[in-house]
Amino acid sequence: METVSRTSKSDLFQASQVVTDWGRIKRAKVHHIAKPKSEEDLRAILAYARENKLKISIRGIGHNAVGQSFLENGIMVDMTGLNQVIELDETGKTLRVQCGATWERVTQVLEPKRLGVSTKQEFDIFSIGGSLAANVHGKSIDYPAMISHVLSFRILTADGEILHISRDEHPDLFRAAIGGWGLLGIIVDVTLQLVDDRVVEKSEVVYMKGDQLVAAYTERVKRDPEATPLCYGFLDTRFTNGFYVTYRYLDDGKTYSLDQLKRDEANPIFFDIFVWLQRHCSFIRSKAFGLTWATSAKPEITLRSRRLLLWDRAPKSFNDMLLQKYFIPVKNFPAFLPKAKAILEGYQKDIKLLLLHFRYQPFNDEAMLASLQDEAMCFLPVYLAEKDNPKWVAVYEQVTNDLLNEVLSHEGSFYLTFIPATLDQVRRAYPHWDRFVEVKNKYDPENRFTSLFYERIRS
Ligand SMILES: Cc1cc2nc3c(=O)[nH]c(=O)nc-3n(C[C@H](O)[C@H](O)[C@H](O)COP(=O)(O)OP(=O)(O)OC[C@H]3O[C@@H](n4cnc5c(N)ncnc54)[C@H](O)[C@@H]3O)c2cc1C
Repeated sequence: METVSRTSKSDLFQASQVVTDWGRIKRAKVHHIAKPKSEEDLRAILAYARENKLKISIRGIGHNAVGQSFLENGIMVDMTGLNQVIELDETGKTLRVQCGATWERVTQVLEPKRLGVSTKQEFDIFSIGGSLAANVHGKSIDYPAMISHVLSFRILTADGEILHISRDEHPDLFRAAIGGWGLLGIIVDVTLQLVDDRVVEKSEVVYMKGDQLVAAYTERVKRDPEATPLCYGFLDTRFTNGFYVTYRYLDDGKTYSLDQLKRDEANPIFFDIFVWLQRHCSFIRSKAFGLTWATSAKPEITLRSRRLLLWDRAPKSFNDMLLQKYFIPVKNFPAFLPKAKAILEGYQKDIKLLLLHFRYQPFNDEAMLASLQDEAMCFLPVYLAEKDNPKWVAVYEQVTNDLLNEVLSHEGSFYLTFIPATLDQVRRAYPHWDRFVEVKNKYDPENRFTSLFYERIRS
């Protein structure tokens, strides 16, 4: 669907303003926010940027934490107006969708057909473009990062052309733009391979001492991965006890309506209250893990795609948290955990942890900036943040740097969307970073597409 209408200049560009992202740590005063509704609008924005020697940053929903979607005095292109599902091929199980659409929009179309995507994040709030640019990974252990189910996409590059990209057409751009953080151009739409959305059943919730948990979890993940789409774990914030939860595909010959497969989750308001109490009361914080375990132990039958999500609707309190994702090779994870524990204990006076989550991440290194170089465990600390308190932010940056260096010394990697890192740290975790920059310079020699995140790494 080639949209040719063109929005008037005054509607297309909103005045200069200070913007931030989900992290609320990085900010910038942008020259304009542009709100395209068509491909013509995208071309007009690019032409305007070139004429006025302005940089362009691209924004989906803005849920990164490191200034990836804006730059001081640049144009921030808000993609949410390009949000149409273009074509669903039920027989071939493919979907073509514009990149400003969210997963929520995609779910509305796919769920009644019992189709889904193999990989997506733990909330449906993110844009498809933001997900592609991050090459997102999910909670499932049977499918790797998003690139694995991308068939092709169309991208507006710095010279004003919209190119069709696949594994056969401009393969370097295919591997660079997926997971390329908006630095190669604006991805306009994408064609995804879908999977059947099967019914899953919670099959095990296993509680044990922290020091035995990882070995038991790793053994469980490897046992029958085809039958077990989901298997993820939690540790208490002292690393003393933990549990893992497993879902298996349910092939019991019964037909379940969508209504029967609803998730029986607590109202997000209760979660918000629970988080507020933990923030203000150390006693509640000390009891919180037990409650998390008790609620996780409830039986459940639902759809795989619904269970990929942590919540159907993200609770408000998530906006006041920060989370990080570190990827440690499976073989090094047991040695890493005591080091992580020591680091986090060293900061416990200033930095409150909400929870520690871990899960197996299936290997895929097709993207140039693949965050895995081996099969890995994702280690995910969630912090009760004080985003508007500069003192807290300074300590948070220290703990992040300490954890990051520990991860790197265990041959691990980290998720660029949450962690501001130096060029050296990025190169260690992302061995093809220099090749990525070469491809960027080939398609974008004037560095038109950039962001605070990229300029910081380059400087
Ligand atoms: C609470 C929370 C939970 C999360 N859970 C997960 C998870 O389970 N798994 C996971 O992998 N990630 C997870 N993330 C990270 C999230 O997936 C990424 O930050 C993602 O990029 C956010 O999507 P967005 O639409 O908000 O993108 P934005 O933050 O707006 O942009 C992110 C990047 O994408 C680029 N971009 C956006 N649209 C386009 C486009 N059309 N063309 C080219 N580039 C574009 C931007 O320039 C930027 O570099 C989580 C984040 C939060 C806050």
